Amino acid sequence: MSHTATVADVAVVGGGIIGLVTAERLTARGLTVVLIDETGIAGGATGASGGLVRAFDPGGHHQAWAAAGLDTYLRQGWHGTWPRVRAQGSLTLVAEDALPGAVGAVTELRAAGHKADVLSAQEITTRFPGLAVPDDLAGVYEPEAGWLPVRAVATAVLRDAGPGLRLKRARATRLLATGSRTTGVATTAGQVHAPAVLLAAGVGSTPLAASAGVHLPLCTRSVGYCLFEPREQADLAELPTVVDRTTGAWLRPWGTGSLVLAGVTSKETDVPATVRPGVTAREQQRVRDVVRHRYPRLAQAPGRGGTTAYDAMAPAGQGEVTVHTSPAGLVTATGWNGGGFKLAPAVGEFAAARLAEAVS
Ligand SMILES: Cc1cc2nc3c(=O)[nH]c(=O)nc-3n(C[C@H](O)[C@H](O)[C@H](O)COP(=O)(O)OP(=O)(O)OC[C@H]3O[C@@H](n4cnc5c(N)ncnc54)[C@H](O)[C@@H]3O)c2cc1C
Repeated sequence: MSHTATVADVAVVGGGIIGLVTAERLTARGLTVVLIDETGIAGGATGASGGLVRAFDPGGHHQAWAAAGLDTYLRQGWHGTWPRVRAQGSLTLVAEDALPGAVGAVTELRAAGHKADVLSAQEITTRFPGLAVPDDLAGVYEPEAGWLPVRAVATAVLRDAGPGLRLKRARATRLLATGSRTTGVATTAGQVHAPAVLLAAGVGSTPLAASAGVHLPLCTRSVGYCLFEPREQADLAELPTVVDRTTGAWLRPWGTGSLVLAGVTSKETDVPATVRPGVTAREQQRVRDVVRHRYPRLAQAPGRGGTTAYDAMAPAGQGEVTVHTSPAGLVTATGWNGGGFKLAPAVGEFAAARLAEAVS
């Protein structure tokens, strides 16, 4: 590995979807970027992601980011080059007490041009006979939403960035600063000098921020999925992506084959920041025991492996883009907690605008 110092307008640490989209948006503004990641691209949570995308994601500014993110995914990125959304429809199940909020969000989404409907439990089971939904739940159905092959998206974003982006396969070891201004990043393959730095390195952002005196508390949370092969294959092609906010279950068809990908939100934190193929028998049982209440065909379906992974979680449980004043020039975009893929186009655009301000 050659240890050469490089110069750019912005150094981005982290080649996940957040760092990649931000880097691409920076090059679209005519800025040069060095993207630093030891694993290349999509080696962290992004590469493991289920890739579910939808506009409905109530709560704070993530609702706006999810809607803007879906718009960009549906346009296949800013240059029309990303893979198309597998628009199998997205169904988000909510409890009765969350229904007024869901109706309000759907009204706003429709006013902004999104297709979304609130369906009763009966309407859902009539439309999707494979699903089981108790009468006291309702669903937000978005016919244009669905899922994306995440690695292909990451590759397309990198390609869109063009020659303005250089990928440096190295580990960032600390931030460089002069006085109260950031001046770049030290890496295992030399220094990157830049007047603005983005930390989008998941939990790897915490020690890097600390090297510049910035407190950025993050932990890992277990996020993974199992693959199942239902014996009853009828309707599989019509199965929408399902996110059940009452149980934490989520699922989608794996692709064109006969598998279903399913996960259940985990409370397990401080797990290793690694992505491994396969799941334990215990995890498979945990997922099956919950998901079968919404998709009964999984009750008897044999397991076909899965992925054991993680995402970075902030104490408030919500990802954030933060512009730091000390050192000036530092922006962080971290803590996406199992939901960052759908937000990434909007987060990247927002973070790129803040970094461009820091450079000017
Ligand atoms: C199993 C699973 C399923 C998911 N499903 C969905 C979904 O359906 N929809 C959705 O919206 N979201 C989903 N998510 C969440 C989403 O994938 C993540 O929120 C998002 O990918 C996070 O992107 P990121 O760029 O912040 O982090 P990452 O993808 O983790 O990227 C961070 C990068 O930083 C690098 N790095 C760390 N430390 C350093 C260092 N010191 N120097 C250099 N590089 C460093 C790592 O190698 C890594 O590549 C899922 C996540 C998982 C794990």
